[in-house]
Amino acid sequence: MRIVRTNSEMRAFVRQASGSIGLVPTMGAFHGGHHSLIRAARERCHVVVVSLFVNPAQFEEASDLDAYPRDEARDAAEAAELGADVLYAPSVEEVYPRGFATSVRVEGLSDVLEGVERGPGHFAGVCTVVTKLLNVVQPDVAFFGQKDAQQVAVLRRMVRDLDLPVELAVLPTVREPDGLALSSRNVRLNPDERRRALALSRALRAAEAAIAGGEREAAAVAAAAREAMNGVDPEYLALVDPDSFQPITTVDGRVLVAVAARIGATRLIDNTIIHTAATPAGAPTT
Ligand code: AMP
Repeated sequence: MRIVRTNSEMRAFVRQASGSIGLVPTMGAFHGGHHSLIRAARERCHVVVVSLFVNPAQFEEASDLDAYPRDEARDAAEAAELGADVLYAPSVEEVYPRGFATSVRVEGLSDVLEGVERGPGHFAGVCTVVTKLLNVVQPDVAFFGQKDAQQVAVLRRMVRDLDLPVELAVLPTVREPDGLALSSRNVRLNPDERRRALALSRALRAAEAAIAGGEREAAAVAAAAREAMNGVDPEYLALVDPDSFQPITTVDGRVLVAVAARIGATRLIDNTIIHTAATPAGAPTT
């Protein structure tokens, strides 16, 4: 596996590569979620590029950026083990040279839930860096995790709106056996916080159970989910349309339940998509 640091070297590699290219964008500190994306890319594409860049533009809080776990040597070893061909790990100066002034922003979708909690610049930071990665690596397929559901929705819209020639492949959330979604941030949880962090996945399971039990009022489903958090106060717990991220009032068809909470100093997110048989237009809803 090659480690590439500059755009020009990455472009040179892409020019001589033959066959389909898969890109797995990451911020490093790999866990099983990243591994599943790299494995999926390895199965599907001839050439696998894993990018590793902790993107300052998507962090609103400097303390969060500073505390973000980094271990490039371990990540490189794991990417190589999983069969990646290139680890593309540019410096901040390479990605944002002096005078950098352009931002890619998806209106509307970027302004709710994570966009509110992480600030208006968060998804613009994500979209800008992903656009740059797509331009430099020119992948046929880019792999993302459903764990960041709103990021997926924003990027899908960006790819469609800007006619970017790439397919987005979205892989399911990888979890610990007890339900906690894997996250690079989990390493910061102390044992008590690790136990309380289960409130997020418990809330999602409670929402699924309420809907499976016939509940269709979004407010009642949200109340059942909140109750299951056993005193952990979510930053948000919302039932939304999985594509538009607009709130729903009645569960009908596909619904995304999204939750975010601070556990001590660590901010965690999780989500699930629930499918119900859609009510035919005109049919009574009670
Ligand atoms: P990150 O390094 O946190 O930016 O994540 C890189 C990619 O891994 C993103 O597409 C995430 O959605 C995805 N990812 C993060 N956690 C998980 C997980 N638990 N399961 C599946 N994918 C994940």
